[in-house]
Amino acid sequence: MAARILDGRALAAELREAAAGRSARLRARGVVPRLEAVVVGADPASLAYVRSLQTAGEKAGVEVRIARLPDDCDEARVRTVLHVLGEDPLVHGVILQQPLPAHLELRRIAEAMPPAKDVDATNPLNLGRLAFRAGTELVAATPSAVMLLLERSERSALRGVRACVVGRSSVVGLPVALLLLARDATVTLVHRRTIDLPSYTRDAEVLIAAAGTPGLIRGEMVTPGATVIDVGTNYVDGKLCGDVAYDEVAAVAGEITPVPGGVGPVTTLALMMNVLTSAEQIASASLRREGAV
Ligand code: ADP
Repeated sequence: MAARILDGRALAAELREAAAGRSARLRARGVVPRLEAVVVGADPASLAYVRSLQTAGEKAGVEVRIARLPDDCDEARVRTVLHVLGEDPLVHGVILQQPLPAHLELRRIAEAMPPAKDVDATNPLNLGRLAFRAGTELVAATPSAVMLLLERSERSALRGVRACVVGRSSVVGLPVALLLLARDATVTLVHRRTIDLPSYTRDAEVLIAAAGTPGLIRGEMVTPGATVIDVGTNYVDGKLCGDVAYDEVAAVAGEITPVPGGVGPVTTLALMMNVLTSAEQIASASLRREGAV
């Protein structure tokens, strides 16, 4: 039997409607939810991405501004810009577009990201917080999208479920593993150095593919009926494809996210929802300061 498709576009449309409602309530209180996307240099893919965020933001009621910095700007300047955005009461979310130019080291800059506005969890503080109380702090957009899709899946009750995460990157694999653990799944985290990958993936009731390797997950690596979430965004001959060999795996799995149309559209909305959450928190904090509530 063919797998049920976990439709990211449909979920994104639902989330967009809810986001627009939250935005309208904020705007009625005089707050315009705003995301600043910091782009260093002129990487065309980065610029195309942040422009796509502007379009998505318009529909979700979030104003997205692009803060462009010259290619040759130094670390201190990027840190200063992040600091200024952190202090600006009109800004609710900040993202730092990657890749950075080669002379800049993400690690040192990431620590300057204002934690309360860090809507894609770039500051190591926000990743670290997941180790203590996953789900209560700002969770990066992609891991958050994985969890939103799982909530809509047949495996929404994750307690005790065998989950395998392929890839241990700090932006996807690791935070997803921590979020799954926080939901009481039994998590196996596998990576490039894992010996005999299929022996782990085959055991999984929930399989998250976040390796950045097109077609890595083959049909015979998946247990019948598994829920498969494909986080891969690979371009092969100019065509977007995931980490999962879709046709083969869809013939075995119980549920599967397509690429495109799966994790991607939900990720954009997860980012917008983080901006709204941050705007709501900042707005209530300022009301409290004014003694209005
Ligand atoms: P992403 O942003 O999708 O997480 P990264 O390139 O940052 O991508 O990380 C890729 C992760 O996937 C790494 O943890 C790496 O070990 C893992 N990975 C890559 N290729 C394979 C593979 N062939 N088998 C298992 N894990 C892999």
